[in-house]
Amino acid sequence: DTIGANLDRTVTAFADREALVDCPSGRRWTYAQLGRDVDEVARALLALGVAKGDRVGIWAPNCPEWVLVQYATAKIGAIMVNVNPAYRTHELEYVLNQSGVSVLVSAPRHKSSDYREMVEAVRERCPALRAVVYIGDPGWDRFVRGAAARGPEALARRAAELSCDDPINIQYTSGTTGFPKGATLSHHNILNNGYFVTELLGITEHDRICLPVPFYHCFGMVMGNLGATSHGACIVIPGPAFDPAATLRAVSGERATALYGVPTMFIAELGLPDFAEYDLGSLRTGIMAGSPCPVEVMKRVISEMNMAEVAICYGMTETSPVSTQTRAEDDLERRTATVGRVMPHVEVKIVDPATGLTVPAGEPGELCTRGYSVMLGYWNEPGKTAEVIDSARWMHTGDLATMREDGYVAIVGRIKDMIIRGGENVYPREIEEYLYTHPKISDVQVIGVPDEKYGEEILACAILRDPGDTLTREEVAEFCRGRLAHYKIPRYVRVVESFPMTVSGKIRKVEMRDRAIEELG
Ligand code: ATP
Ligand code: MG
Repeated sequence: DTIGANLDRTVTAFADREALVDCPSGRRWTYAQLGRDVDEVARALLALGVAKGDRVGIWAPNCPEWVLVQYATAKIGAIMVNVNPAYRTHELEYVLNQSGVSVLVSAPRHKSSDYREMVEAVRERCPALRAVVYIGDPGWDRFVRGAAARGPEALARRAAELSCDDPINIQYTSGTTGFPKGATLSHHNILNNGYFVTELLGITEHDRICLPVPFYHCFGMVMGNLGATSHGACIVIPGPAFDPAATLRAVSGERATALYGVPTMFIAELGLPDFAEYDLGSLRTGIMAGSPCPVEVMKRVISEMNMAEVAICYGMTETSPVSTQTRAEDDLERRTATVGRVMPHVEVKIVDPATGLTVPAGEPGELCTRGYSVMLGYWNEPGKTAEVIDSARWMHTGDLATMREDGYVAIVGRIKDMIIRGGENVYPREIEEYLYTHPKISDVQVIGVPDEKYGEEILACAILRDPGDTLTREEVAEFCRGRLAHYKIPRYVRVVESFPMTVSGKIRKVEMRDRAIEELG
């Protein structure tokens, strides 16, 4: 199916059910209304002359129009380019030109970001860009009125030209390990993945999914939006950008049954001073994904947020995104020690990166995946695509993982983050998990820094529960002695107030490492 055809089916089946709620503005759509508004935006894009395969950019924080544009572009076979809302002019210009965006939908202003000013600043240097529409601006109404020039027949004609294997979306990776790469994805890639992710959660038309995760990222637009609409569930937008209090207010006010987030979001929600006052009784399930989740956080999410069925997903933008997921019936051990087992219709294997051979169960190696979910390729970068997708169509993820006898997968860390100290492989995750149990530590990251004697040394960056407190290297070493092998004990300890983050909520260890190297001289 194409995304447009799938939405039409949902609109017919669940016409009167709620489809979309925007908490800040109080605006609401039923599926019938959503279907109508999507078609109107699609016809307005046709009126602007958008052809099949043209790139339409969207650069805005979460809002209902984001959702309309997502489905409208899919309906006319345009390739939507998700632009990270945290970008500034330099990155914006790069993305617009790299993907050849001809029409850009943006937001005029959000907090300190004046999108219009930034778009106008780069516009001259983007030769392909011929139209810009700002959401919530008189220009938006004019744009939508343009739909009058193209009737429903024009839309139907376009729909007949589309195939589910067409490229439909360029999603940029989070940029955790370097410059973001544009993954080109088809209807088939992301519609199926969104469908299976929520199918495994048991989502139906009776569910309401609260989405504080950014739409620009696959977590929001695929697992969230497509996951919801493919089952007739309702999308609840708590606000334009993540805010823990607004998120819990949305859950209780809208009686959400599911909540998504990266671990740092759940940590922030659980840490709200008035956490106990929110009524989270409607919650049942949700997804925690994107980076490793500390066991303690998982336990609290299950018991204190009422999310007994919360799933852990593992995946990457390049694989639409999810490759493994825990199941509703999994016990706490599986839900905390693993990222679940392989998704339906997808293959996963763990190989020795040096030989390419599958490693025995329980041994670490690079996770490779194959199936409908693997992207078409990086946009306009055949060389980079060939580095990650081999001739047998296996996607090499760059993540180290183990697969247990029971088929459940545990992520050990990124190959790039592995520390090699004096010839020993050290996985930061293992040390982080142990340090989380230190009474003074609220959050911690472990990285490797260059060292003349050992090649690399271990540095722990900690955020303390009490910001006025101190934490010394000796205290940490004392805490680890007898519990961790001597070569895993951090040589350096830094107390910090926050970690450098991507918009999708991931910690940029690369940046931490650069800073640390500078400080160490
Ligand atoms: P870039 O590729 O630009 O450096 P990125 O890899 O963070 O950024 P994404 O595609 O958003 O971009 O994230 C995919 C990565 O996130 C995976 O390769 C993996 O390292 C990590 N990841 C995803 N889910 C999990 C999880 N449940 N547990 C641990 N790590 C995860
Ligand atoms: Mg990546």
